[in-house]
Amino acid sequence: MSELESGLAASGRRLTRARRTVLRVLSDASVPLSPREITAVGRQHYGHLGLVTVYRTLELLELMHWVRRVHGADGCHGYMLCGRALSPTLVCRLCGRVAEFPGGQPLRSLIDRVQADTGFRVDDPLVQLSGLCPACQGASGADEADEAAHRENGSAESIHT
Ligand SMILES: [Zn+2]
Repeated sequence: MSELESGLAASGRRLTRARRTVLRVLSDASVPLSPREITAVGRQHYGHLGLVTVYRTLELLELMHWVRRVHGADGCHGYMLCGRALSPTLVCRLCGRVAEFPGGQPLRSLIDRVQADTGFRVDDPLVQLSGLCPACQGASGADEADEAAHRENGSAESIHT
């Protein structure tokens, strides 16, 4: 936390109560949270926390690479704390569980090569791989069986829908 404090101070900002609250909520969370969810949970710690403040705080923390945005299966954005290292994120599209795997160096050299080849300057090195976590791999088989049974039972109805 003190590293963040000095990072904020270096850019002329303070670690306000709202910013501290957003960070606390994100560090307690096991899945990415939307700004609304962060606000709702954050109000349990700091009653005056507002949605607009949360949006601004997330924007700032994302710029400072303390927070990373992930794309949810529902098309919404969730936010999570990121390790300072540049590493790809794995996101489970069923339960939203997130894992980071150590791949900073290969990714850094890939980005360097992409920049050299294309002339682009990459400023948002978000790499996200979606799939099923170990727990959901087992569960999804059962879900598909349920769905198949449901389709058979409900086939007459579904013609009219
Ligand atoms: Zn999962």
